[in-house]
Amino acid sequence: KPVVIITIGMAGSGKTTFVQRINSYLNSLSPPSPPYKLNLDPAVINVPFDPNIDIRDTIDFKEVMKQYNLGPNGGILTALNLFATKFDQVLNLMEKRSDTVDYMILDTPGQIEIFTWSASGAIITDAVASSFPTVVAYIIDTPRTAAPATFMSNMLYACSILYKTKLPFILVFNKTDVTSPEPMLEWMRDFEEFQKALTSEGHRDADGEPTYMNSLMNSMSLVLDEFYKELKAVPVSSYTGAGIPEFFKAVEAARQEYETEYLPELARVT
Ligand code: GDP
Ligand code: MG
Repeated sequence: KPVVIITIGMAGSGKTTFVQRINSYLNSLSPPSPPYKLNLDPAVINVPFDPNIDIRDTIDFKEVMKQYNLGPNGGILTALNLFATKFDQVLNLMEKRSDTVDYMILDTPGQIEIFTWSASGAIITDAVASSFPTVVAYIIDTPRTAAPATFMSNMLYACSILYKTKLPFILVFNKTDVTSPEPMLEWMRDFEEFQKALTSEGHRDADGEPTYMNSLMNSMSLVLDEFYKELKAVPVSSYTGAGIPEFFKAVEAARQEYETEYLPELARVT
């Protein structure tokens, strides 16, 4: 069975560029292993990879905005809801191709919360994850996450998605051609390093005491320490292709985790 990779991440983190990059990587293998690709972003203008299934083929997001009198976010959400009602047909198409491909890749809407905090996002994720080994690739905009407080917010978001989907999770530090994720990886290995970084960022009041924000973050970093233990982190550049083979190694480990952890749990609850 193929592995399904669901890309999730903040707007502009590079989800679409990442999908394009792993698509070209898989095509460059010998023998080539072209993946099955799904674009779930109704509002994207250019899709740089050639999707097998494209939400824009069945739903005109501009028309949805007009018809339901919605702004852009409401339009994207409604388009995704309409698409989710037909997702059984999409699953059928995916099943038909499951003997001939090794990977199926989902690109999700730019704005993270439209997919992660909507009923339709949950319906699509659950439908896919109960049919195929599925992993979440959480794309991080490394240059924009380099400040300790920003890094922690992003990790808390990732943490909430992990606990919501319960799926195997890979943290993809993207854009390493611009910024090295090494300090962030070090914060994940050793929370005292993270606390040091916070302190040197100057979250202290006039008396030199840690500010409220600093002590909150210190406690949070202890919580996140548990979360980090469950994760694989892979630095990549979707521009240069650096780190992509390592990403696929992490996918293989995640597939095993799906089989040993997610599937038994799925069987238990259904
Ligand atoms: P999405 O909203 O998450 O789908 O993000 P996009 O794939 O549209 O990328 C957002 C911006 O980040 C674009 O300007 C990309 O060219 C840029 N970008 C994506 N990946 C990389 C990368 O690895 N390195 C650099 N330097 N820029 C990147
Ligand atoms: Mg995109």
